[in-house]
Formats: sequence, C-alpha cells, structure tokens
Amino acid sequence: MTFKSIYPFTQETIAEYPAHTKDEIASRLQHGWQAFSALRQAGTEQRAAWMMQAATLLREQAAEHGTLISREMGKTLSEAKAEVLKCASTAEYYANNIGAMLQPRLIATEGKKSYAAFEPKGIILAIMPWNFPYWQVFRFAIPNLLAGNAVVLKHASNVSGCGLAIEKLFLEAGFPEGAFQALLVSSKNMEPIIADPRIQGVTLTGSTPAGMSVAALAGKYIKKTVLELGGSDPFIVLKDANLAEAAKIAVKARMQNAGQSCIAAKRWIVEKPAAEDFIQQVQAIITSLQQGDPFLPDTDTGPMARADLADEITRQMEQSIGKGAQLLAGGEQHGCNFTPALLTGVQPGMPAFDEETFGPLAAVITAHDEAAAIRLANQTPFGLGAALWTKDLDKAARLATLIDSGNVFINAMVRSDARLPFGGVKQSGYGRELSVEGAHEFLNIKTVYIA
Ligand code: NAP
Repeated sequence: MTFKSIYPFTQETIAEYPAHTKDEIASRLQHGWQAFSALRQAGTEQRAAWMMQAATLLREQAAEHGTLISREMGKTLSEAKAEVLKCASTAEYYANNIGAMLQPRLIATEGKKSYAAFEPKGIILAIMPWNFPYWQVFRFAIPNLLAGNAVVLKHASNVSGCGLAIEKLFLEAGFPEGAFQALLVSSKNMEPIIADPRIQGVTLTGSTPAGMSVAALAGKYIKKTVLELGGSDPFIVLKDANLAEAAKIAVKARMQNAGQSCIAAKRWIVEKPAAEDFIQQVQAIITSLQQGDPFLPDTDTGPMARADLADEITRQMEQSIGKGAQLLAGGEQHGCNFTPALLTGVQPGMPAFDEETFGPLAAVITAHDEAAAIRLANQTPFGLGAALWTKDLDKAARLATLIDSGNVFINAMVRSDARLPFGGVKQSGYGRELSVEGAHEFLNIKTVYIA
C-alpha cells in the first residue's frame, strides 16, 4: 500500500509514500519507548531547550515547510507560512511556561506534605487531519514532548510528507531519536497500535465518525482519549453590532483555509433588523475574493484539499438551494476549486444548517430576535466555538453563558491560541488542547502523601 500526495490545484500526483510494514511499526514503537525513557531522564530544562531549537528551525525553514503544506493540501502559501510561524510561537510559549505548568500542586492535609505531581505516561498516539497539517500536530506534540511523553503520529493519508518533515525537524532540533515519529499506516490498521501497552493515550482531531471509531477502540483497551472533532460554529450578529467589522471578520472566519477549518464561522445568524445591511456588506467582500493558484500572492483562497470535498460542498449548496436558500455569490466548482459562495435564507432542515460544511460556503440565517438567535445557535449536534457580535458587553457576557460550545468569542473570530484552552462539547468532542489544561491531558496526575 502507498499514500499519494496530490497537489489539489492541478490534481497532479507529487509523491508516493509506501506504508510502513508491521515490522517497521514494531520497531518505531520500540524506538518511541526508548525515547520516552530518554525524555524523562533529560528533565524539563533540557526538553525546553530542544523545543526552543525546534521553534528556531520552524522560523528559519518557514518557506520550505509552507511550500510543502501548500503542495500537499492546497492552502495559500501565505496561510501555510503563517501556520508554521504559529507553531514556532507556540513552541516558545510552552518552552517558557512548561516549568510552571508541571510544578507539583501542594495540597494541605493532616499529613506532613501532600501534593499532586504531573508525570509523563509513555507514548501518545496522535491521529491528525490534513486541514492544518502542521498546527494540529504541533499544538498537541509541543506540550507532550515538553512534559516527557513520546509521540507517534498517524497523519491524514494526503499529507504524509508533512508528517515526515515534522519528524525530521524534531530530530534536527535535538530531541532523542524516536521522541516524535510519523507512522505511515492506514486508518483501517489502527487497532494493534492502539492496543499496544506502550501507547498510553490517543488524541484524535478529525471528523465525528472517526472520533467515534477511535474512541470505541481506545475504550476497549482502556486508553484515555482526547477528541477534537467537527463543528458548525454560529457567528451571531445582533442588531446593535458594528456591522462593517462583523461583515469583514465573518468572511475571514468562514473563507480562510478555503473554509476547511473546524472553527470556521459556518452559520451566520443575523438578527432581522441588521440582516439586509449585513448581507450587502458580506456579498461585496465575497465577490471580491480571488480564488485560485495558492502560490500567487493575490490569491485569497486556494483550492479545496481533495475533489471529493469540493463535490460534497457543491452537494450541500445545491440541496440547500433546492430547499429554498438563495445563492448570491460564487459556488462554481472545477475539480478541487470552488469559488467562495454566499447563501441566504438558510434554515434548519437544509444541509447548510444541519451539517458541517467544510468548504468556502457562507450561510446566512435570519433570526427574529436575540432569543431566537441563541436557539438557532444551539440547534446543532456540534459545540465547538461560537462568535457573538454586539456593542453591549453585559448582554454579551449573559448570552455567552447560554451558548453550548467550548468557547465563545465576543466581537472577534474564534481562533486557537496557546494561552487559551481549546476544545468542544456535544459531538465536537471532549478534552482540551493548549494552555495548562492541554498540557495535563496525557499526564499521570500522581498524588503523593507523606504522613
Ligand atoms: P477525518 O477523515 O476524520 O480524518 C482525520 C484523521 O483520522 C486522519 O488521519 C484519518 O486518516 C483518520 N481516520 C479517519 N477514520 C479513522 C478511523 N476509523 N480510525 C482511525 N483513524 C481514522 O477528518 P478530515 O477530513 O481529515 O478532517 C476534517 C474534519 O476534522 C472536520 O470534521 C473538522 O471539523 C475536523 N477538525 C476538528 C478540529 C478540532 O480541533 N476540533 C480541528 C481540525 C479539524 P486517513 O486520512 O488515513 O483516513
């Protein structure tokens, strides 16, 4: 079996990678286990020094890594380089803060001393998607390597080159051989890896069906999981919002990365009195976007990562139109290319409302009032992020408590940030990445009690 990397813009095959054999996987797990021991002995300061070097390499090699990302999954080169630099700054953030995050927490009891210590567990398996092929991997790997866990990565089949390049980078940064390894393995062959006793946890970022399947397997072998799954984030615009700013950010939050982001603003829920003005403004911006060659500096959105994903967004758009939505811009598909599209009149019962739309398709839903806006926002099986636009910050804080999601951003787009915990509720998954919560997910929180 081989994994093909296909440049989405032209659909030419750019590389083929043979899958690792069973023996190769066994040897990689063994290396990972030895590296776990080396990482543990190295101590936090040494691991932080290696991570700082990884950040330096990412900055120095941003153009090279960015080119690989754009070639394998089609995002624009400027988006790809920004992704690499975000990995670098997150590596620096955690290298500077991991000491404090791993400090044992003293707890007063009747004993002489008692505390909770944070210790690594072994090898953690990361199953990752192609949409941010560096960021998704780094945001998990950075705190885990710093805390002393080894990592094996099963990357999405279309970005094998990225997985291997990340492995090389950590090695070049000084981490012990085996500390971070890519496994070229089909998603059908994960059970023996998940079952292996050296694997002490599994994190998956991807679709809800993949999460269900991996979590079921992990449950069978009592392995902790973190699931970062799909989303259908509401972007709520109330009638007193700064509409010009909301319109500009709505388009960015929906269309960046060709709409292929878990936290993209997928459902724009606009309070009725603001709807007409908001629609006019977003329509003007969307119509001006340049879709096409990811390596041209004027391109705003590149192709989608695979032709089947573009077919799927076309289906969701056409079926929504069939049920009464109106298409005001874009929506033309050629292979992986899909021009940024705007649908209005979207309602529950249409795919653009009910399903996750993973492409550059914006959906405007009109809400009669504020209460209806919150009801519509929560009318989804997902609960990843939400944005809320209003000038009344007291009202915003009150409404934020009513939204079922892992985060709410007021007058801003939802984004991930190393300092803030990130994750979802409902079918968007469980567990957290980033911040101190993310750093602790795969650690042994060990109680020590001295009588
Ligand atoms: P996907 O098809 O679920 O794939 C994600 C990863 O899971 C890939 O490595 C894939 O490998 C693997 N996989 C799929 N089915 C599996 C199974 N049954 N057992 C083991 N591994 C399996 O998702 P995608 O299309 O790459 O990514 C898009 C989805 O990810 C969207 O739903 C998006 O919202 C979600 N996402 C969530 C977050 C978040 O933080 N919450 C971030 C980014 C993306 P193969 O490629 O080999 O199938």
